Amino acid sequence: MNREKILVIDFGGQYNQLVARRVRECNVYCEIYSYKTDLEQIREMKPKGIILTGGPNSCYEEGAAACKRELFELGIPVLGLCYGAQLMMHMLGGHVCKAPVREYGKIEVTVDQNSKLFESVSKKTICWMSHNDYIEAAAPGFEIIAHTPDCPVAAAQWVERQLYAIQFHPEVLHTTEGTKMLSNFVYEICGCVGDWRMDAFVENSIRSIRERVGGGRVLCALSGGVDSSVAAVMLAKAVGNQLTCVFVDHGLLRKNEGDEVEEVFGPNGSYKLNFIRVNAQERFYEKLKGVEEPEQKRKIIGEEFIRVFEEEAKKIGAVDFLVQGTIYPDVVESGLGGESAVIKSHHNVGGLPDYVNFKEIIEPLRDLFKDEVRKAGLELGIPKKLVYRQPFPGPGLGIRIVGEVTAAKVRMVQEADAIYREEIAKVGLDKSIGQYFAALTNMRSVGVMGDERTYDYAVVLRAVNTIDFMTAETAEIPFAVLARVMNRVINEVKGVNRVLYDLTSKPPGTIEFE
Ligand code: GLN
Repeated sequence: MNREKILVIDFGGQYNQLVARRVRECNVYCEIYSYKTDLEQIREMKPKGIILTGGPNSCYEEGAAACKRELFELGIPVLGLCYGAQLMMHMLGGHVCKAPVREYGKIEVTVDQNSKLFESVSKKTICWMSHNDYIEAAAPGFEIIAHTPDCPVAAAQWVERQLYAIQFHPEVLHTTEGTKMLSNFVYEICGCVGDWRMDAFVENSIRSIRERVGGGRVLCALSGGVDSSVAAVMLAKAVGNQLTCVFVDHGLLRKNEGDEVEEVFGPNGSYKLNFIRVNAQERFYEKLKGVEEPEQKRKIIGEEFIRVFEEEAKKIGAVDFLVQGTIYPDVVESGLGGESAVIKSHHNVGGLPDYVNFKEIIEPLRDLFKDEVRKAGLELGIPKKLVYRQPFPGPGLGIRIVGEVTAAKVRMVQEADAIYREEIAKVGLDKSIGQYFAALTNMRSVGVMGDERTYDYAVVLRAVNTIDFMTAETAEIPFAVLARVMNRVINEVKGVNRVLYDLTSKPPGTIEFE
């Protein structure tokens, strides 16, 4: 299919995935590529427009990240953001240097000139700035279209050459009219029509999967998480019972989650696929006996998962395709797409499992951001409860229990977590808090209940807000809600006599509690 596309050229800035997400919110498909990408390759992709991102370098320094000058001569509209704007000016003959006053945070920008970029944008508009360098003089041919008290060139354009530069970050939500500006760029300047829609994506994906698979057999490991569920339903709709889903219940899922997965995908669910649930709880508890070190627990759970899946796969025999729930941030963060400063190896990308006998891999969500996966899930008719599930680590409750994992402790944390989630939802906070869950500490202490001495475990409640999952702030939950959770947990969960609230942000803490 010939879908229109915007390219985001990544110079290593921290908001680069956000740029792509905002563009896609305007219904225009967008992909991230490193600044090292060949000009020829860029030309071949026939993008409708190119966006250069921010980045940590100073463009006038030796060895700074740069693109080819010819990028500005392709006849394709280019929008430079922050570093991208500075680089454009620097390469085309303007002057960029250290700013006498660095700008950081929300700053009022004054729009001086009419520009397609600022159509329907207020003359004075709040924008997010984060720079030490500035454009002292725009390159010849450009006209200045916006400024701030400390920044003479907050935006510039060269209309005939379709080159646009802005010093601030439209992709950050603090820039109140940022999405409007990006939408102006892709529609008014690049001439996009906006053909990126989830309903069409889902329909096309199902059709092309059906063509690709033909009469082949497909195997999918289901975890109960959002990504694997959406991938599985897409495959089920495309090839029906040529698909086999193996769901390994490691006994470390949230309360009732195993049954919920079975309800949707099992024999009484609405899809005609082959569903195999492996109840491997005891096996995992056995392996985890006496193990306290969190990294070791993660390793054991990961390896055991593979072993169980492998055994099932052997019973099924050779298949043609294996499904993986890779999503776009996995691709970018593995260094295949962009130029992220933090490049992590990702279990989903690259390393193919050699324990399953298959010919090809299918990654139906490879192009999607998480919020798009959810939208695709809703299009596919997957229950909301499943689609909006909170992020949950692969090792599950195994790493929300400090110290040794036992069946009794799993029950405690499951019960406490279910109560916590229920109370949060009751007051409507489930839509505003990023992530929240209960964990079980390894601490026992003395209490008194019904005039009797207790010596029981302490549950810890965690709730954080995060935009990027790299940093997080503790959420402020009304005290009355916390008190109600405390009350219920102590009354209803046997073996627990204390409830604590974790105030730690990330860093120095992590989001999980292990
Ligand atoms: N490093 C450049 C500066 O300090 C660009 C910063 C950015 O892109 N956010 O001005």
